[in-house]
Amino acid sequence: MLSLYNTATHKKEEFKPNEAGKVSMYTCGPTVYHFAHIGNLRTYIMEDVLEKYLRYIDFDVKRIMNITDVGHLSSDADTGEDKMLKGAKREHKTVMEIAKFYTDAFFEDMKKLNIKRPDVVEPATSCIDEFIKMIEVLLEKGYAYEAGGNIYFDTSKLDEYYVFNKHDAEDLQVGVRDDVFEDTNKKNKTDFVLWFTKSKFDDQELKWDSPFGVGYPGWHIECSAISIKHSGEYLDIHCGGIDNAFPHHTNEIAQSEAYLGHKWCNYWFHVLHLNTNSGKMSKSKGEFLTVSLLEQKGYDPLVYRFFCLLSHYRKSLVFSYEGMDNAKVAFNKLIKKIGTLKAEGELNEQEAKPFVEKFKEALDNDLNTSLAITALYDVLKAKISDATKLYLISDFDKVLSLDLIKKANEKDEGANADLTAKVEALIAERGEAKRAKDFAKADEIRATLLEMGIEIKDTREGVVWNKI
Ligand code: AMP
Ligand code: ZN
Repeated sequence: MLSLYNTATHKKEEFKPNEAGKVSMYTCGPTVYHFAHIGNLRTYIMEDVLEKYLRYIDFDVKRIMNITDVGHLSSDADTGEDKMLKGAKREHKTVMEIAKFYTDAFFEDMKKLNIKRPDVVEPATSCIDEFIKMIEVLLEKGYAYEAGGNIYFDTSKLDEYYVFNKHDAEDLQVGVRDDVFEDTNKKNKTDFVLWFTKSKFDDQELKWDSPFGVGYPGWHIECSAISIKHSGEYLDIHCGGIDNAFPHHTNEIAQSEAYLGHKWCNYWFHVLHLNTNSGKMSKSKGEFLTVSLLEQKGYDPLVYRFFCLLSHYRKSLVFSYEGMDNAKVAFNKLIKKIGTLKAEGELNEQEAKPFVEKFKEALDNDLNTSLAITALYDVLKAKISDATKLYLISDFDKVLSLDLIKKANEKDEGANADLTAKVEALIAERGEAKRAKDFAKADEIRATLLEMGIEIKDTREGVVWNKI
């Protein structure tokens, strides 16, 4: 039985979806005003493992992700400039050009890290009608009000607003606040914007007509509306990085449950941050680590995935090149070891079973990926046939997605290509020596080849060689 830590209840709980065998899963997507940094991608890697493990244990999963291309302001608390506009100004492009470029770049990075594309990917700008409909209902029900031209959610109408930190204030990590300013339109400090018409920024590029005036949606409403559009009134798992818990997810719960009139999502899965020695990684800080930068420095993106899998998602992780180097060495050793396995011997499913159990036990326990990797090492050490080992490795890789067998074969092919080139060069050299009647040298080369495990025969068609 899979158990997951639920931020909403502050404990590990047995996972039971609303509908037997089916899971609806929502992921907060990227704000596409810049490249994703490897911190963002840590969150998406761990969410990918969760999705793939749910599929591995036979759930039919529908995963939905938004693309934030409007409404996310520099501070998560509804102040500052729209991040998209900031990106567009930085690069002298339009907001839509920026959105397209960085959405494509995001999916390129996802592909390099073997992160599956969610079943539904929906940009916020294509759901304006849904946001408007939801805001209209919230106004009708008395959960929203107009002030100074904007529409706000009235948090005083809720019995409980701080859903995540009620038991443990330390769990709460407030989103980035570059630019805190008091919005005097708000009735309560915690109220948040559903629809902006009075922006501090007259040059807000994308605006839509609405019953509340020409303007644009707030950030939080997009995730509620997109989730409800694709998964209906009940959601099983909502995911995101821990900074999203407050205020973003707190506000999503407030408006979704006010709109629906009942509990909305049962499990909240939050990934702790990737930090550097100097603190949290942030796109707004200018310099940050990307997948391309890792590649330029000679790291295979899957080494970064491996690095992430070695730690538990609920612990913050410190990135260092030393840590990456260690992961690289361990990953290459692992691939090399897998490369020595021969597809020989009988596959013995009975013998495979306890290893599968151990792998599942690790992941069932709140997605303990580092123990799942230990289960993989146990397979390599075990006294079972190579065929059974290869079966288990490819089975585990359905979840780990490290391309273990493919990489081992590539290494094998690479090594073979190297050997062929060396052997052929030596054979050519021997031919030269023979033509020059330097038979001693020719014999020496034959001996060298033998030491390399290569036997040669002179035939009428030329020299043929084979491995002994
Ligand atoms: P954003 O593109 O800023 O909307 O963030 C995309 C995702 O990355 C969200 O789920 C964030 O919570 C998550 N995130 C942001 N910073 C980090 C970090 N340093 N480590 C892990 N996840 C992060
Ligand atoms: Zn969201």
